[in-house]
Parts: sequence; C-alpha cells; structure tokens
Amino acid sequence: MTRVLYPGSFDPITLGHMNIIKQAAFLFDEVLIAIMKNPNKSNHFFTMEERYEIVKEIYEYLDNINVIMGEGASVDVALNNDCKAIVRGIRSGKDYGYEVEMNQMNLDISNGRIRTVPLFADSNYQFLSSSMVKEVYGLDKDISKYVHPLVKQKMLEKKIR
Ligand code: ADP
Repeated sequence: MTRVLYPGSFDPITLGHMNIIKQAAFLFDEVLIAIMKNPNKSNHFFTMEERYEIVKEIYEYLDNINVIMGEGASVDVALNNDCKAIVRGIRSGKDYGYEVEMNQMNLDISNGRIRTVPLFADSNYQFLSSSMVKEVYGLDKDISKYVHPLVKQKMLEKKIR
C-alpha cells in the first residue's frame, strides 16, 4: 500500500489543492493531507483546527483521503506516518524553482528516504492560490469558483461574527 503526504498551509483549501489531491488519489492508494503549522506565516485567516475540520469534513466520505495536523519538517511527518513520498502541486515556474530546492533539502534531511512527487495544476487552477481567494473575499466578491461550498460558508461565517 502506497501512502503519500500532501503538506501545506491550506488557509483555506482551494479547488486547486483539491485538483492535486484528486490526481494523487488516482495515482496512490492513500493521500494523507497534512495541515502544517508554518512559523513563517503568522497572519492566518483560519486557525489550524478550523482548517483541519474543514478539510476533514470535505473528504469525510472518502476512505483513501485523510487529514492530520503537523508541525516541524514535512519529511518527519511523512516518515512518522508511513508515507513513501511527499506530493506537491506545481502551478508555474515560480513553484517549480521552489519545489526543486525543497526536494533537494528534504532528500538531504531525510537521508534520501523521502522525495517529492510534483503534480501539475490543471490549467483552470493555474492562477489560483489561497492568498488570491482571501483577497477576492476581502473585496466582497464571490469566491464560489475557487473553493468548495463548505469553505465559502465558513469564510462568510467569519465575516458575520
Ligand atoms: P505552502 O504554504 O506549503 O505553499 P499551500 O497551502 O499554499 O502551502 O500549498 C500547498 C501545495 O499546493 C503546494 O505544493 C502548492 O504549490 C500547491 N498549490 C497551491 N495552489 C495550487 C493550485 N491552484 N493548483 C495546484 N497546486 C496548488
């Protein structure tokens, strides 16, 4: 059985992330989504717990897609959860350059045990990012085209509170 880890901030999860998850679930037996604590990103929209609950609810009906919260090095989270590789989404040359470096570092710090499988964003999601969703939402524009209905609902609930 091949389980792979898909780590990220997912603040919030977008249809772009979900496209990568679908691709990974087609290729591997199980996809473990890891909501990672990122000490470099301090101004979050959703808390770690909120992001975890949202992703969990979205994929509740699928046995081969699961979610955890993680911190520290993604390679350690992968090794501790019996994942064979890390999956990352590539939208552009910018993502590519970053992921090439990350793959090298992850191989190094895991002593060659964990490598990255890059998956390419489908063209309609190529320009989609969590920060863009937050920006469009902040402008009071409709985000239905970019996120799962549950994400939209949870974002709107924040505004009302
Ligand atoms: P991080 O903060 O680690 O970059 P993100 O939640 O922003 O985490 O993204 C997690 C992964 O999903 C990364 O590999 C990122 O490149 C990828 N990704 C983000 N948006 C998209 C998208 N629209 N299409 C494909 N991959 C994406």
